[in-house]
Amino acid sequence: MRYVSTRGLPTDSPRSFTDILLRGLAPDGGLYMPVTYPRVDSEMLANWVKVFHEGGYAPLAFEVMSLFIDDIPPADLKAMCYRAYNAENFESDVVAPMTQLDDGIWLLHLSNGPTAAFKDMAMQMLGELFEYVLEKEGRELNILGATSGDTGSSAEYAMLGKDNIRVFMLTPAGRMTPFQQAQMYGLDDPAIINIALDGVFDDCQDVVKEISADAEFKEKYSIGAVNSINWARLLAQVVYYVAAWIQASGAEGNKVSFSVPTGNFGDICAGHIARRMGVPIDKLIVATNENNVLDEFFRTGVYRVRSAEETFKTSSPSMDISKASNFERFIYDLVGRDQERVRELFAQKLVNEGEFSLAGTSEFKDARIRFGFLSGSSTHEDRLDSINSVYRHDKIIIDPHTADAWKVARDALRGGVVEHPLIVLETALPVKFAETIQEALGFTPEMPERFAGIENAGRHVVDMPNDAEAVKQLIIDTVAAER
Ligand SMILES: *Cc1c(COP(=O)(O)O)cnc(C)c1O
Repeated sequence: MRYVSTRGLPTDSPRSFTDILLRGLAPDGGLYMPVTYPRVDSEMLANWVKVFHEGGYAPLAFEVMSLFIDDIPPADLKAMCYRAYNAENFESDVVAPMTQLDDGIWLLHLSNGPTAAFKDMAMQMLGELFEYVLEKEGRELNILGATSGDTGSSAEYAMLGKDNIRVFMLTPAGRMTPFQQAQMYGLDDPAIINIALDGVFDDCQDVVKEISADAEFKEKYSIGAVNSINWARLLAQVVYYVAAWIQASGAEGNKVSFSVPTGNFGDICAGHIARRMGVPIDKLIVATNENNVLDEFFRTGVYRVRSAEETFKTSSPSMDISKASNFERFIYDLVGRDQERVRELFAQKLVNEGEFSLAGTSEFKDARIRFGFLSGSSTHEDRLDSINSVYRHDKIIIDPHTADAWKVARDALRGGVVEHPLIVLETALPVKFAETIQEALGFTPEMPERFAGIENAGRHVVDMPNDAEAVKQLIIDTVAAER
């Protein structure tokens, strides 16, 4: 399997999986995509059902991912899958179990990992892959990132203890939830460097951008990222769509539909890829919060990115995005993998006009008909109602992000545009967003046993001014001290 950029030129030669693994954007500003999607047939699906029932999630992950990775020996890839997906990291060998609610909707539990959010599902595998490739190439990597909560902690727990990897993570001082702070700052390891920057999340991101723009520094200190456009993260997420189909329908071979709380379009893009491969998926429902850039596109055909001022701070903060970084991958498929067209839309129209429109085109109709997409959005009030309703009927507490997806799923069922089996992706545990749960239910969720005492883990964090030069100096000093 080879990979090309969504904005590639006919003269580009396709790259291998390990070649693109550590890269972010392609040099032309596009995103890497496989040259074709492997096709799964009924025989392969039947085998996957058997593999999952007999061996759990890890061997299924190997089966699915090996269709896309041909430059890592199978035995090595398999060993990595078992190290990433097991009961120690995800509470059981099923890794992504399901619960059926009173209303017939299924919940796919993706938040049983070390940081209680679905990002662990991909990040644990990414940690294994990074360590493996760095070792092969005899290199080290300094991961530099900015986080408002979920991604940073997930990256730190995935890279913890991995050879040749250090993590420098910028956080906005005093602006994460107490649980998120405890989770990150509690890590006591010389290779995990938490930085509390005197600023907001956007300041953190600007510092990362400024440092990454210094090509010489980036090269000399081997600076890398783990952002949501990384192809391997998407690939790892394809696996749980298969695991969910197996659990809800597998034996009968029926189609299932999914409702996905969406921010950067990473999670649902993995569902799109699974569907293109031939996994029996009917509808894919994009659920947004008040930041409805994507709902607007699927309703109107207009993709209009927002400014920071137009981006609302909501009670499902991991979906507060103004621009969906993985959306270009979907559009690439939608326009028939026409790289020139993608360049025109993303490198010209979007940059110059802040939007593009596919309204009235046959491609836009395809989004719904050929690609099975539906969409909807929810408000803070909707989330409170949804959390309440699910709790009343099922005694299960869902987190505010999952509540967005449940609300949009229920509306779609009532509107008759989707049928059962319908699966809602649970993307975080409620304990991460205790304040909103308190508002919805009048009490805070219990701390799961595995996080007991997390508040007492100490505070390992460097306070820094909002200054890229100071952060660079910290990187220089840290690397020098260990050599
Ligand atoms: C990141 C995140 C999302 C959004 O996922 P995307 O891949 O960005 O669409 C939803 N819920 C939670 C809890 C998250 O952390």
